[in-house]
Amino acid sequence: MRSLKTPSPSEIMATLVLEAPLTKIGAAARKFLSKPKQLLIDGKWINACSGKTFHVFDPATGDTIASVAEGEATDIDLAVKAARKAFSGPWSKLTPSERGKIIWKIGDLILANLDELAELESLDNGKPLAIARVADVPLAADLFHYMAGWATKLEGHTIPISVPYAPGAKFFAYTKRDPLGVVGQIIPWNFPLLMAAWKIGPALTTGNTIVLKPAEQTPLTALRLGEIALEAGLPPGVLNIVTGYGETAGGALAAHDDVDKIAFTGSTEVGKIIVRAAAGNLKKVTLELGGKSPAIVFKDVHDKQAAIQGAANAIFFNHGQCCAAGSRLYVEKAIFDEVVAGVAERANAIKLGAGVDSGTEMGPLVSEEQFHRVSDFIAEGLKAGATALAGGKPVGEKGYFVQPTVFTNTRPDMKIVREEIFGPVVVAEPFEDLEQVMKFANGTDFGLASSIWTSDLSKAHRAAEIMRAGTVWINCHNIFDAAMPFGGYKQSGWGREMGHEALELYTETKAVCIAL
Ligand code: ADP
Repeated sequence: MRSLKTPSPSEIMATLVLEAPLTKIGAAARKFLSKPKQLLIDGKWINACSGKTFHVFDPATGDTIASVAEGEATDIDLAVKAARKAFSGPWSKLTPSERGKIIWKIGDLILANLDELAELESLDNGKPLAIARVADVPLAADLFHYMAGWATKLEGHTIPISVPYAPGAKFFAYTKRDPLGVVGQIIPWNFPLLMAAWKIGPALTTGNTIVLKPAEQTPLTALRLGEIALEAGLPPGVLNIVTGYGETAGGALAAHDDVDKIAFTGSTEVGKIIVRAAAGNLKKVTLELGGKSPAIVFKDVHDKQAAIQGAANAIFFNHGQCCAAGSRLYVEKAIFDEVVAGVAERANAIKLGAGVDSGTEMGPLVSEEQFHRVSDFIAEGLKAGATALAGGKPVGEKGYFVQPTVFTNTRPDMKIVREEIFGPVVVAEPFEDLEQVMKFANGTDFGLASSIWTSDLSKAHRAAEIMRAGTVWINCHNIFDAAMPFGGYKQSGWGREMGHEALELYTETKAVCIAL
C-alpha cells in the first residue's frame, strides 16, 4: 500500500512497537465494532438509500476495521426533513430545564462508557489510548456538562428605548434568543468525538436540531455518541448522523436549502467551498479552519526545560494533527541552539506505535492520504535546503507512521514554513527581539492560536496584545476548556466554539417592542 522508501530495520525497531490492535480493546468496543454501522435518521438506524458502504481503516496497519453506511444527497435530505420535523415537534415542547437534563445525561453516559469510547477513538484515529482516555473523552463529557447549564440561562435584555419621532409615546422593549432551526455540522478526523461534542453541545442547548456529518476516516465514536444521545432521552430527529464522504454527503448538507446554519471544522481550503455552497440560501456559517500557530520562547524564560517540553508538546501532541499545533517555533537567538536541540532530543525519544498499544507515545497519522501529504511536505523541505535536526523520514513498512521532525535553516518563503502541514513537523527559527518576532508570528494568513514562553509578565501581555490569533497561551500550549472560546482570526475561521460565545452563533436575537 505504501510506496515511500523506508529506513533500515534497526531504525524501525528503535522506535516502532506494533501489537495486534483488536486484541488490545475491551469487549464493549469489540461488540460495537461487530454491529452494522448505519445512519441515524429520525431516531432510527437505517442503511443508506443506495445501500452503499465504505471501509474504515486502522491507521497503524492499514487493515479494515469497519464498514460504514455511505450517505449521500438523498440521505442528507431525509435527515434534514427529520430534523425539521423534530425542531417544531417534541424538542420545542421541552422546557429549558428538561432540555438541559438530557444534555447533562449525555455527558454522564460518555463518562460511563469512557473506556469503550477511548478504545474506539484510539483504534480509528491512531492516537494513543492513554491520551483518548484522559483528554478526548473527558473533554467531550465536560463540554456537554458545561453546555447543559446554559439551557436555562439563555436570557435576553429589557431595553429602555426613546423613539425620538414618537414624543410622549411609551414602549416596552425586550430581546429574546431563538434557536436557528436545523443546523448542519461537518467535523474532521483529528478529535472525532470531541469535535462532535463541540458542535452538538451548543446546538442542542440553544434548542436547534442537527444533521451531523462525521469525517469519513473516523466515524466510529460519532455513531456511538448517537446511541448514547438516544439512551439519554434525546427525542427522535433531534440529532441525525449521516456518515459519508465530504464532497457528496458534506457537500449536500452545506448546500441544502432547508438548513439554517452550517458549522464546519476542517481545512481552510474546504472552508472556502462551504462558504460558496452556503450562499444559495444564505444560511449562517461558522468555520474553524487551519492554522500555522507560533510558539515563541524568550531567553528570559525562567524554566527553560519546561519551555522545551512545552514547545515539543505544542507540535507533537496528537501527532501534530491539531489545528492549534505550535508548528512554527521561534526562539530568541541567545538560547536558540539549546532549545531547538532540546526539542529535537525529545522528538527522537518519542516512542511510536499503534494507539492501542501500551507505551505508545505517538501513533500513526490518520490515513494513507495524510501520510503521503506529510511525507511530501518533509521531502520538499529537505529539497528546499532545510536541515532536519530530528526525523525527516517515514517509519516502518505498514501503517502511516512518520518520525517527529524538527527543521532548522528554513526561509520564510518555504512551503513548510508557510503552509499547514497537519503532522509532527515543526520549523524552528531564531529571533532578535519582541518587535521582530511579532512580525514573524503575525506574518501568516492564519490566526488560530499561539503560545509565548517568558517570565516577564509585561512582555507576555504586550505580545498577547499584538498577536493576531484567537488564542494566546502563556507558558502553556494546547490548553482547552469547555468554558474558554476557541476560534480563529483571518483565514483560520469565522466565529468561536465553546464558552458562551458559541451560543450566540446558534441563536437569532429577536427584538420585541410593545406600545404601552
Ligand atoms: P482534511 O483535508 O484534513 O481531511 P477536510 O477539510 O477535507 O480535512 O475534511 C473535514 C471534513 O469536511 C470532513 O468531514 C470531510 O468529509 C468534509 N469535507 C471535505 N470536503 C468537503 C466538501 N467539498 N464539502 C463538504 N464537506 C467536505
